[in-house]
Amino acid sequence: GEFPLIESLFHRQRTLPEDVRTGIGDDAAVLAAAGDDDWVAAVDTVTEGIHAIPGDDAAAFGWKAVAVNVSDLAAMGATPRHALVAASLPTDLATERAEAVADGLHAALAEWGVTLVGGDTVAARGGPLSLSVTLLGRAAKGASLRRSGARPGDTVYVTGTLGDSAAGLVLLSEPPSDWLGAYDWLVARHRRPRPPLVFGRGIAGAASAAIDVSDGLVADLGHIAAASQVGIELDADRLPLSAPMGEWAWAAGIDPERYALTGGEDFELAFTAGGDAFEALQRAKYTTDTRFTVVGRVVAERPGAVFGPGVPADGGWEHFAPEGQP
Ligand code: ADP
Ligand code: MG
Repeated sequence: GEFPLIESLFHRQRTLPEDVRTGIGDDAAVLAAAGDDDWVAAVDTVTEGIHAIPGDDAAAFGWKAVAVNVSDLAAMGATPRHALVAASLPTDLATERAEAVADGLHAALAEWGVTLVGGDTVAARGGPLSLSVTLLGRAAKGASLRRSGARPGDTVYVTGTLGDSAAGLVLLSEPPSDWLGAYDWLVARHRRPRPPLVFGRGIAGAASAAIDVSDGLVADLGHIAAASQVGIELDADRLPLSAPMGEWAWAAGIDPERYALTGGEDFELAFTAGGDAFEALQRAKYTTDTRFTVVGRVVAERPGAVFGPGVPADGGWEHFAPEGQP
């Protein structure tokens, strides 16, 4: 039944924060207005067969539906508060699998302090499992990070390491015949992304532009280049690569830099900043324990382009692209 299902899967948070006046159970949620803050809103859908391998780890699926939206809010320097979930559940979805999806979803909500305030649940006959999460957050008035503020002379940075998630996806799709020490770590990077949320808030006001790395570094920096009308020159040999990525690349005979440039779903932050931001960046780095790396510079030439030796002209993942993922 629909209502017992909503109760057991989604209505799990029993104490509500004071900015939620009415949560799940009425016709709509009522949220306290956020003083002088701005609302920051994002929605992203994860669907089995598109964003996840059908039948793969159900809890990871629930986790990811929240994490991808947290990543968008991190890139805005905002703090997530409330979520709405539109769930499309296949009629033949096993109860344990549905429970596991909800477990992962709630683990992620708890991780980032988000209250589920409502949603919609539909039974999809034969259809894929799909979760569409709307995330509402707050940022101090006018303080959100945009894609459009990069200026020639700024430095280009990225948090964490790149290409791990794409490597994890390959490992899940084509499990290696020999034991690979890097397997679990790379697969976890793919299944359970942890966007640097607090770091994003830390660089708001200091960074000139930011974006989350969801489609691949080149493609995503391309959005900053276009929105800011600047060129971005990348140093492909300075890309941050993890040791497990190196281990797998060596074993599989693939080029790790190519993965770092075009692999999607790392959910790290790429950002630009001027020299005057140095202290604020250092502070954000050490207070949130988030490493970042210089990967290039912003230039006036070639507005809208991302270029440099070894940088492929084709960006990364695009839905509706003629040939899909590189
Ligand atoms: P309505 O008929 O008013 O759309 P529903 O029967 O769809 O209401 O939902 C009943 C209540 O359960 C509402 O408060 C709704 O927000 C909540 N709800 C339904 N599905 C979900 C979900 N997937 N996650 C969170 N809350 C949900
Ligand atoms: Mg409804």
